[in-house]
Amino acid sequence: MIRKKLIVGNWKMNKSGSDGITLTREIIEAVGREVAVDIVICPPFTALESVGHALEGQTIKLGAQNMHSDKRGAFTGEVSAEMLRALFVTHVILGHSERRTYFGEMDNFVSKKIRAALAAQLRPILCLGETLIERETGSTLAVVQRQLDSGLREVSKDQITSVIVAYEPVWAIGTNKVATAAQAQETHTFIRVRLTELYGTALAQKVRILYGGSMKPANAPELLAQPDIDGSLIGGASLEARSFIDIVKTAIAAG
Ligand code: PEP
Repeated sequence: MIRKKLIVGNWKMNKSGSDGITLTREIIEAVGREVAVDIVICPPFTALESVGHALEGQTIKLGAQNMHSDKRGAFTGEVSAEMLRALFVTHVILGHSERRTYFGEMDNFVSKKIRAALAAQLRPILCLGETLIERETGSTLAVVQRQLDSGLREVSKDQITSVIVAYEPVWAIGTNKVATAAQAQETHTFIRVRLTELYGTALAQKVRILYGGSMKPANAPELLAQPDIDGSLIGGASLEARSFIDIVKTAIAAG
């Protein structure tokens, strides 16, 4: 097995301290010592510390949903990579389409954040994906390539295997309109080919490419069986222990 599957829960702006702890404990009880897949949960900033404590001694890792590219300074409302590291965060979601759409984050800023995360030994989860209009006008692959190339600008060969790519068609996020397995696999293959052009075959084969967009227990088996789908970034279905655990178990079965 060249790439261990990775399942990431993105809680978005949900789960206060006590709700987050309850959900974390339920996940720990079911899969807290799992080693066949990697699991990351990404609570909101305010729950990072408490969820981090609950995860002590478990194999499940702690992720954040965003960060700023600078180390410190006058950036009201922001947090830095070092601040996340101090809370034992290991992963950070960057360039999520909700950040790009609602908070105006551009490729350039995302790219700076990727470099800052890597410099602080955080593993960035670089999100990319096309909108519905971009898919309908046939520009999916061009958009994905632009976001990928920009996100990885100045990411070296030594660093690339620390990066996780998440393909998330914007039209599939939170909409219950999941990409078909064939649509997802096509874009994942395209991303793998581009990674090969940029970093060579051996390294490109090691990079994990997640699918995100309305993944649920019912559609997970087909998606996770695709050769280039190495796991998933899950929003809605990660807020309920049963559905998140079911997807983790599907990933274990898919190998
Ligand atoms: C996401 O926000 O990354 C996501 C995939 O959300 P959902 O699973 O709810 O579509």
